[in-house]
Amino acid sequence: MIKGCKRIVIKIGTSTLTYSNGALNLRRIEAFVRTISDFKNAGHEVVVVSSGAVGAGFAKLALSEYPDTVEKKQACAAVGQSQLMKIYENFFANYTHTVAQILMTKDVVDDSHRLELVKNTFNTLLQMGCVPIVNENDSVSCDGIKFGGNDTLSAYVGIACNADIIINLSDINGLYNKDPRKFDDAVLIDRVDEINEEILSYAGGAGTSRGTGGMATKIQAAKIATDNGIPMIILNGEDPTILYDILDGKHVGTYFAKRKDK
Ligand code: GLU
Repeated sequence: MIKGCKRIVIKIGTSTLTYSNGALNLRRIEAFVRTISDFKNAGHEVVVVSSGAVGAGFAKLALSEYPDTVEKKQACAAVGQSQLMKIYENFFANYTHTVAQILMTKDVVDDSHRLELVKNTFNTLLQMGCVPIVNENDSVSCDGIKFGGNDTLSAYVGIACNADIIINLSDINGLYNKDPRKFDDAVLIDRVDEINEEILSYAGGAGTSRGTGGMATKIQAAKIATDNGIPMIILNGEDPTILYDILDGKHVGTYFAKRKDK
């Protein structure tokens, strides 16, 4: 699935990056960074879409409750984003890779001129050998210029950097025909060739209290990506070295094929 893919977007969500108490799961982030560094060493170009700004800010500020208002979330994101980048910077430096921060808002991808500029930035950073780390610019974004979560953001980043594939590391193994947390007989779907009503009906509601996206937003993101000719894989990021399985050609997670006419 990925053998011929040079340019890869990997999205990692808050529930994968943090412990249930909200603090950053450094062990997992380190394993994630090491694996991506290896992907780079193997000749892939990798763009990371990382959540975790609000979570990291919440933990750093030692708040007693997870932020529930827009202004608290925006403040936490301002604290957490720099924290997050410091950690990525340090971990990637261990493997001699250079990171670059890109903070996006939806109005950028809605404006063809600005989108073109961002495309050029991605291309230039990738040519320079950097690992762009992208998040929504949560502290300044407001309704109307919001992606509404990093699942959607990852699809647009895939488009902006002309990715060969998008990998969405989640806290679930992939798309099931019903909610596996509620039904023991839920079956994991290997491959989706068309995102139709039936597929949409498989998605439940929201994800964890810390992340924002559930399966529904992931499928919507897969629709944006595959409609634009980019396949997407959803898989469990609990152990980030699962990414090697994809590299080795093993079938893990759910693969959403690009639209046939693309
Ligand atoms: N941009 C948010 C953050 O960094 C996360 C949004 C999401 O997980 O979908 O905390």
